Amino acid sequence: MSNQPNTGPFVIEPPAQASLPVQGSAMRFPVHRIYCVGRNYAAHAVEMGYDPDKEPPFFFQKNPDNLLTGTEDFPYPPATRDLHHEVELVVALSKGGRDIAAEAALDCVYGYAVALDMTRRDLQGEAKKLGRPWEVGKAFEHSAPSGPLVPASEIGHPARGAIWLDVNGERRQAGDLEQMIWKTQEMIAILSGLFELRAGDLIMTGTPAGVGPVERGDVLRGGVEGVGEITFRVV
Ligand code: MN
Repeated sequence: MSNQPNTGPFVIEPPAQASLPVQGSAMRFPVHRIYCVGRNYAAHAVEMGYDPDKEPPFFFQKNPDNLLTGTEDFPYPPATRDLHHEVELVVALSKGGRDIAAEAALDCVYGYAVALDMTRRDLQGEAKKLGRPWEVGKAFEHSAPSGPLVPASEIGHPARGAIWLDVNGERRQAGDLEQMIWKTQEMIAILSGLFELRAGDLIMTGTPAGVGPVERGDVLRGGVEGVGEITFRVV
């Protein structure tokens, strides 16, 4: 079967293109895939019961249409009693490829954002225990509330700086980007050996220690120094 151009006509209405707003612009960044890195801050690996020195990086994905933007209301998802916050730096790629060298990897970066990797921890825990995939814990609707992308042309490539999350004004997560075990350029290099990366791909780079449950009514405020802040209320 030939690889036909993906231009339709389509038998159903095509799904909307997932995208992120770009700070200071009326234009949006179209999203292709969302790669997520697990346990990329040593203190978080330890709090989840793992030894950070013994692990190569591992990845899972969220779906592009799991992004939540343009609202401050985060809807509490179904089928969980243990919904956790994970504040993360997001890397957005403006070009991709295979086997990208770490030294060239930052040339692929369009910009950065602050987002939450919301996690149904009870479902994820069950999946881990049974050796099942993580999608039910990680890749549900609205599971990636995100702020706008800030172009690297404006802020450079943040390698250090505070990353934090407050719940109802109380600090819950605190770390520094320099504590990332696998750096942005290393994650791009490693991912590009596993997948063909493309313009439009996002990488969620892992969360610092302090993850925990949220309830309806909680206000989550997260930030990354030099990138920005986001606020979401659990409804
Ligand atoms: Mn995460």
